[in-house]
Amino acid sequence: MIIALAGNPNCGKTTVFNKLTGSSQRVGNWPGVTIDRKEGKVRGLKDAVLVDLPGIYSLSPYSMEERISRDYLLNEHPDVILNVVDASTLERNLYLTVQLMETGIPVVIALNMTDVAESKGIKIDPNALEKELGCKVVETVASSGKGMEGVRSALQSFGDIPGYMSFTDDVESVLERISSDIPDDVPAIHRRWTALKMLESDTYDGETKDQIYELEKKYGDTIDGIIVSQRYDRVCEIASAVTVRKKKDKTLTEKLDGLAVGRFTGIPIFVCVMAVVYGLAMLEGSPGQYATSWLNDYVGDVFTPWLNDVLVEAGVEMPILGLVIDGIVAGVGSVIGFLPQMIVLFVLLVILEESGYMTRVAFLMDRVFRRFGLSGKTFIPMLVGTGCGVPAVMSSRTIEGEMERKITSMTVTFMPCSAKLPVIALIAGALFGGSVLVALGCYFGGVIAVLMSGIILKKYGRLVGTPSPFIMELPPYHIPSVTGVVTATFQRAWSFVKKAFTIILLAAVLIWFLSTYDWQLNEVASTDSSMLASIGGAISWVFAPLGFGNWELTTATFTGLIAKENFVGTLGVISGFEDDPDGLFGWLASVVTASGAIGVLAFNMLCAPCFAAIGAMHRELGDWKTTGLAVSYQCGFAYVCSLILVQFGGLILGESVNMWYMGLAILAAIGLAYLLLSRKDITRESDGRCGA
Ligand code: GDP
Ligand code: MG
Repeated sequence: MIIALAGNPNCGKTTVFNKLTGSSQRVGNWPGVTIDRKEGKVRGLKDAVLVDLPGIYSLSPYSMEERISRDYLLNEHPDVILNVVDASTLERNLYLTVQLMETGIPVVIALNMTDVAESKGIKIDPNALEKELGCKVVETVASSGKGMEGVRSALQSFGDIPGYMSFTDDVESVLERISSDIPDDVPAIHRRWTALKMLESDTYDGETKDQIYELEKKYGDTIDGIIVSQRYDRVCEIASAVTVRKKKDKTLTEKLDGLAVGRFTGIPIFVCVMAVVYGLAMLEGSPGQYATSWLNDYVGDVFTPWLNDVLVEAGVEMPILGLVIDGIVAGVGSVIGFLPQMIVLFVLLVILEESGYMTRVAFLMDRVFRRFGLSGKTFIPMLVGTGCGVPAVMSSRTIEGEMERKITSMTVTFMPCSAKLPVIALIAGALFGGSVLVALGCYFGGVIAVLMSGIILKKYGRLVGTPSPFIMELPPYHIPSVTGVVTATFQRAWSFVKKAFTIILLAAVLIWFLSTYDWQLNEVASTDSSMLASIGGAISWVFAPLGFGNWELTTATFTGLIAKENFVGTLGVISGFEDDPDGLFGWLASVVTASGAIGVLAFNMLCAPCFAAIGAMHRELGDWKTTGLAVSYQCGFAYVCSLILVQFGGLILGESVNMWYMGLAILAAIGLAYLLLSRKDITRESDGRCGA
């Protein structure tokens, strides 16, 4: 008899294996990989061989471990599965159990870690669990050997008809329809499994396809998403039916979670917490904002003139003086100016993370965001992103799933950060009578852009990583330590400062150089004869379909890469209305139409962020290739969205239509709709509903 030993990582599998087999063990590798394969004879059971499978959370083949386990169970025909279940985290463990049962192989459960569960005040009723699942359950404490006799005898008489969980009737009826298509050579016990796989494989047409489509419409989810959700629902149901909490006082964590993730209290509390964070870091007059504007004023009004005087005193002359003052100090300064605000923000975020509250936030938001392929935790970077994209990208660090984390760091700069506000104000003032709707549109647009990109990148952005199934656990709250907060804040601030003095410095110097000299390397009197202007002029045709194909706006878009607010400054310099907002408004209204203004705004909101944020993205994405692809995606996405907005906007506003550009816009709209609506298997398995 072959017994396959399966369970989550750290549930006590190896301990059970050792207790059951004693010294009879053979260790090898699974074919082709360096994952241990152990087997041994079970003492006191005749001809019984126990095979230790890798620790896994589910049977979907995301990881090597899951693939090995699945292939073993389906191809090697073990007689029974001994499933070690950690009683102290029952839901998570049962999620695997229901899938093991779907293989059709009889399952015996060793309900392990019952001592740990007990110390948490959790008692699982083994008889109730046996009834719910329809398989044998034995309570064990593997580390002390308790219950091992029971496991042995359960393995001798496990019965042969495994139960499996039922899905809702509508899903079951599709499964039944599919069952008739299963090839005859599939063994009877694997038919349920095969039907499920066929359902998820998405290769149907005709009536079955319609029926699946109906389901997806009804539940607003892909078919595999529906199956995952229903499994979780069932697991939650079973877990709560068999869990008996002893009459022990609720722990503080449990009491707090009653509020923090409570049905009616969760969101209001979250809104309040975020209002406090936002208020302390971003709001006009807040400590963060105050410190940042103080530093900016200091650099602008005190430090720069002082340094200028010192350099002039020392006999430093023009090109070098300009390089230092207008290139280095202005470039690095505009970025470092945000540092105080960021430190305030980092401190608050680190406190929220260390205390365990962030996990609760993710838990609350997860249901919404996972529809778009993102994690609940994406919400935090988005919020931070309304202040500054750099800490926003950096705060995506706490998202567990690799793919969700990367997508978040690639898209969160779509949110209008505080440096984009002057751009919004300029466009709104010049062409839309200062309407507040323009700013609102930018915020909504940012959110929509993040969500749309979540869908697109998850489907087509395989390069960003494989989706990782992760199951959220709510760790106990604890009071953050001062050293912990200081260290974490310092690390983040430091990596930001390093960025400012390397890549941002280089980029700032480059743009300064291009905007100060002409091709003969003569210093120019005004930007419009600089290299930057002629480069801008040479490629401005690219932006013609977006309604702003002139060198001024193209150049301003480029200088915006140093810091978005440079867009305004550059236009001020070029137009000659530097200190005259009304003059600038009038000038801008004379060079673009209303739809062109929408194009300029949309493109500048969504395209590559400033160099500081690109630097932060590089840090999170790990290499320049991925970073380059991410920036290309941002620019491409910005282009497509702006094109659609401009051309259709122009039509609505009654402006004259260029047929070529309109055609391009229609193609872009079709392409975008295809990316968003086409079905491609979105594999996802994160769900936090059982966590509490
Ligand atoms: P595996 O990853 O599933 O193989 O888990 P291990 O067998 O390596 O066990 C992980 C840890 O849990 C080890 O330190 C074991 O000693 C401990 N452990 C295993 N079973 C129990 C149990 O029932 N109660 C307690 N308290 N600890 C256990
Ligand atoms: Mg082990």
